[in-house]
Amino acid sequence: MIDAIAIDGPAGAGKSTVARAVARKLGFTFLDTGAMYRCAALAVVRRGVDAKDEAAVTKIAEQIAIHFEQGEPQKVFLDEDDVTTEIRLERIGDLASRVSVFRGVRMAMVRLQKVLAGGGRVVMEGRDTTTVVCPDARLKVFLTASADERARRRVLELQARGEDADFQTIRAEIVERDKRDSSREHSPLMIAPGAVVIETDEMSVNDVVDRVIEAYYAEGKSE
Ligand code: C5P
Repeated sequence: MIDAIAIDGPAGAGKSTVARAVARKLGFTFLDTGAMYRCAALAVVRRGVDAKDEAAVTKIAEQIAIHFEQGEPQKVFLDEDDVTTEIRLERIGDLASRVSVFRGVRMAMVRLQKVLAGGGRVVMEGRDTTTVVCPDARLKVFLTASADERARRRVLELQARGEDADFQTIRAEIVERDKRDSSREHSPLMIAPGAVVIETDEMSVNDVVDRVIEAYYAEGKSE
């Protein structure tokens, strides 16, 4: 068992917000695995490679250097360049979900994620952290909410950043990304055996954070 918390779930379920807060409360490191796929997507754009070209995209994923700098906010570096803000663009998130279907891309990212998570005292979040990256985490969580609620939250988040956000467009994108993430051949998004499922429609962020921490300590007791 690794003394870690792994949280998976669909886009917009609040995984990053919750994982970050749980990590802060427990004094653990926060590992945002989606940020790494976003870095791969950004590198594909920057190098002008066709995102459908599996061999070329895989090569990029294997060559790039990604590292995190802990802090508030945590910073993400792609080949020494601070890309913290740029990788949050919707089009980069969308492209990340396209390049993350490639097996070689996943292998490159998972290799690094396993190293980062291996020492424990980590809260990680993504789509396959409970199933592939760290199936032996002390606590595994599947965090979810209805598509309406997730779209509503995403719109608020985008508006807060001053970006244009149309509810129906965002909702359609979320549903499409869910479909792609859940139906892909390699490491699809699914509920891992033993995962605690938390439906967050009616819950505040604080409620979810408390629930995760409670479940984490409960797992320890049941050993
Ligand atoms: O979570 P985030 O929106 O940053 O992730 C962007 C995309 O990266 C997801 O839609 C998903 O396709 C991919 N991803 C993944 N496996 C992970 C994390 C993210 O395939 N562990």
